Amino acid sequence: MPELPEVEVTRLGIHPYIEGRRVSGLILRRDGLRWPFPVNLPQLIVGQTILSTGRRGKYLLLHFGHGSLLIHLGMSGNLRIMPPETPAQKHDHVDIVLGEQMLRLTDPRRFGAVLWHDNTNGSLEEHLLLRKLGVEPLSDQFTSDLMFQQTRQRSAAIKQVLLAGDVVVGVGNIYACESLFRAGINPKTAANRISRKRYQALSVVIRQILAEAIKQGGSTLKDFVGADGKTGYFQQSYFVYDRAGEACRVCQGTIRHITQGQRSSFYCVNCQK
Ligand SMILES: [Zn+2]
Repeated sequence: MPELPEVEVTRLGIHPYIEGRRVSGLILRRDGLRWPFPVNLPQLIVGQTILSTGRRGKYLLLHFGHGSLLIHLGMSGNLRIMPPETPAQKHDHVDIVLGEQMLRLTDPRRFGAVLWHDNTNGSLEEHLLLRKLGVEPLSDQFTSDLMFQQTRQRSAAIKQVLLAGDVVVGVGNIYACESLFRAGINPKTAANRISRKRYQALSVVIRQILAEAIKQGGSTLKDFVGADGKTGYFQQSYFVYDRAGEACRVCQGTIRHITQGQRSSFYCVNCQK
């Protein structure tokens, strides 16, 4: 599943080809993906210029003068720049034509989304899907103080609080497991039992891990151009994720696997207290 780093790298990859370009055509090959496409989408964006791109959580944002297009890649979606005459394959659902370029959304499992926010409906931050999101992990608003304060009433396990995304957004399962390992925090620890000092360590490693993944994905930027480019997960070497029964890379203890909220957690009992 594309996580925050993959979405940010997608944005960086397509941005130079779409910013400042006018939409000359829109091809929708279905009525929708996870949700229906806005029925008047062609009237809304054809003839209009993409002024800039952005991201909020895992939503990619294409900003126009009168509103913004929200694109979510779901479980399996990707966006690619290619010539407009490129034949569509089975899972190519949306083409945004930009003169002699085209932005194509491919999504085999169809959990993605393309939605419109009109500026007449108020601020984009207040959009139904965005307003409950926690702070961006790579922004200045994400601090250990914020994590500490927002977890005082939360007795749920820290792992589940991270995944809930309402304190900090974009820390998916892999990144939650890995950052808790690096911060030395057991994933089962109640969020309100974690000290300010330990949140300091956790906020630092969350930033580090996401920034590292984005940097690593930077080498794939050229893959967003051309029909045969391969985009996908950033293959990283993990300390704990998906390593149940293997030896901890730090203490040689055995990595354990537990299920929390129907999600797999991996951790080292020696290194994480
Ligand atoms: Zn260990």
